[in-house]
Amino acid sequence: MSYVFHPPAPVSVPVLGRTERFPVHRIYCVGRNYEAHAREMGFTGREPPFFFLKPADALVVVDGRMPTLVPYPSLTDDLHHEIECVVAIGRGGRDIAATEAAQHIFGYAVGIDLTRRDLQASMKQQGRPWCIGKAFDHSAPIGPITELSQAGDLSQAGIWLKVNGSDRQRSDLGQLIWSVGEVIEHLSRAWELQPGDLIYTGTPEGVGSLVRGDLVTGGVQGLVDISLKIG
Ligand code: MN
Repeated sequence: MSYVFHPPAPVSVPVLGRTERFPVHRIYCVGRNYEAHAREMGFTGREPPFFFLKPADALVVVDGRMPTLVPYPSLTDDLHHEIECVVAIGRGGRDIAATEAAQHIFGYAVGIDLTRRDLQASMKQQGRPWCIGKAFDHSAPIGPITELSQAGDLSQAGIWLKVNGSDRQRSDLGQLIWSVGEVIEHLSRAWELQPGDLIYTGTPEGVGSLVRGDLVTGGVQGLVDISLKIG
């Protein structure tokens, strides 16, 4: 096969303890999946799950102990952090029941759904798509994937984010409105899931602004922490 220009290298994420990497297909994100976050955004928290996407090449792989540089994006004066547990799909399928969802999960990682909140708010107000607020370049930092068998039971795992060492977000996965299994059930009715899909499962309360120079650290109990510097 020849191309009119070189195709981009595949996007991939490291897997803890393995040399093989996880090749990424799509990035799905769940909106407002913690009640206290839904309330802070002005909603009741009682609604079916809804989804948006980010392009796979919006990922920033955060690997190792040093903070990874994430450039402050263009057009915004209000870049927000959203710490999230990310599900990595290893086996595809459609119409997957929540009770069968675990068979489709390869592993989990810690991610941050970076958001140009001012642009998202403006698009919401006008009834327009969220892409410019959510799906920009470098908008999806992610740490290494921990395989399902090594991650243990995450159903009540703590999730947290600090900026310059101060607590910003702290909750646990038991607070998810729609569990990981239920998210997979809903998502796989709308799209056929493929191996390589990532699902950002939503953020707890405490979202807030970042500025250039901020050191952002975050984690989910049982997974590899991430650390980034806003440049
Ligand atoms: Mn989010």
